[in-house]
Amino acid sequence: MLNGSTPSRGGRNGSAVHTPGIDLPAAEEAARQFLDALGICLDSESLRGTPGRMARAFAELFTPRSFELTTFPNDEGYDELVLVRDIPLRSVCEHHLLPFTGIAHVGYLPGPRIVGLSKLARVVEHFACRPQVQERLTKQVAEWLQEHLRPRGVGVVIQADHTCMTLRGAQSPGARTITSTLLGGLRDDARSRAEFLALTSP
Ligand SMILES: [Zn+2]
Repeated sequence: MLNGSTPSRGGRNGSAVHTPGIDLPAAEEAARQFLDALGICLDSESLRGTPGRMARAFAELFTPRSFELTTFPNDEGYDELVLVRDIPLRSVCEHHLLPFTGIAHVGYLPGPRIVGLSKLARVVEHFACRPQVQERLTKQVAEWLQEHLRPRGVGVVIQADHTCMTLRGAQSPGARTITSTLLGGLRDDARSRAEFLALTSP
């Protein structure tokens, strides 16, 4: 049961993030019954291992790597925007359990501490590795950074293609969904907001 797990707060200098485990044999048995109910015969050599592969594939999609939010004192007093663009993103739509993929841009206005840049991608990965909706994912990344890094502002933009929309239902190939969350100075200060949006516009 991974849904809704909350990263726990670590020591003064960082936040440790852990997630609970998965019952693979139970998931495999459920996948077998699911495929059987869809009329898919699993007798061939090629399909025999499919329930197990499905279980392991979804387990991987729902298991983020644990990480520590390493921060450093902002000794130089850097107070302009820090932005990591084009962070690869993959998640699973919680309404259809189909993948959505795209990119995330994550930026912040530093306060007393700055963060190791690769950690911004790990925060995105952490919240993407569970059944999600893009709106919540965007908000969770922004709010988690606001709470744990305590910057003067945070901005997150996500652009993604949802296969539940492009492969089925509306069948709109090429349709892209864009969501954004701006907090603090990136929301309220007109110059910072305009700079962030200009640098993250598709
Ligand atoms: Zn969906």
